Amino acid sequence: MGGPRIGVLGGTFDPVHIGHLVAAVNARAALALDRVILMVANIPWQKTGMRTVSSAEDRYSLVAAAVGDVAGLEAGRLEIDRGGVSYTADTLVSLADLHPGASLFLIVGWDVAAELTTWERWEEIQQHATLVVVNRPGAGRPAGLDDNGWRVEEVTVPNLEISSTDLRERAATGRPLDYLMPVAAVHCLRVMDLYATGR
Ligand code: ATP
Ligand code: MG
Repeated sequence: MGGPRIGVLGGTFDPVHIGHLVAAVNARAALALDRVILMVANIPWQKTGMRTVSSAEDRYSLVAAAVGDVAGLEAGRLEIDRGGVSYTADTLVSLADLHPGASLFLIVGWDVAAELTTWERWEEIQQHATLVVVNRPGAGRPAGLDDNGWRVEEVTVPNLEISSTDLRERAATGRPLDYLMPVAAVHCLRVMDLYATGR
């Protein structure tokens, strides 16, 4: 009791967008979390082989720019510093070691919540964290959330039909990114020249 309450919103963030940020701040407020870490995956095992993923450092820069000085939000580089393929189970174990007495909360959208039991050592995730499920357009609320033994909190957030996939397509075809990402993150993306046509 009384230890810090730490939220983790894991993702590829290729690129980060306001859907991620709105989910993070609303989960933080609803569950009185001290901080929410947007944890940048080093090598996202779900996405390798599917498409080219931007470098972890570039994705981290985008998240750091997006978070700026918003209270209680931070960009996390634990998975980058660990190297290799990123598994959330390892991340939660590290955080539990780093912050003894903390309560950990793993924040996921409906799309991810539906597939959690396919994740590496998901039972370990379950031991270390309360699952925080937020609504996401394009995916339905997964059934059976309570059946697999998770501690679950559901947080309703504004429905934002925004995805990194759409943002990459927008960038590649010269359509606007403004207001779908924080200004500083758009600037960072332009400077790094990410998602240009043909990539
Ligand atoms: P991609 O299209 O490349 O898969 P994405 O937009 O889904 O990107 P991810 O990095 O895959 O972003 O997602 C990280 C986490 O953020 C996941 O738990 C996902 O469900 C959640 N999330 C992403 N976009 C939204 C959104 N618009 N509303 C609520 N949750 C979201
Ligand atoms: Mg996704």
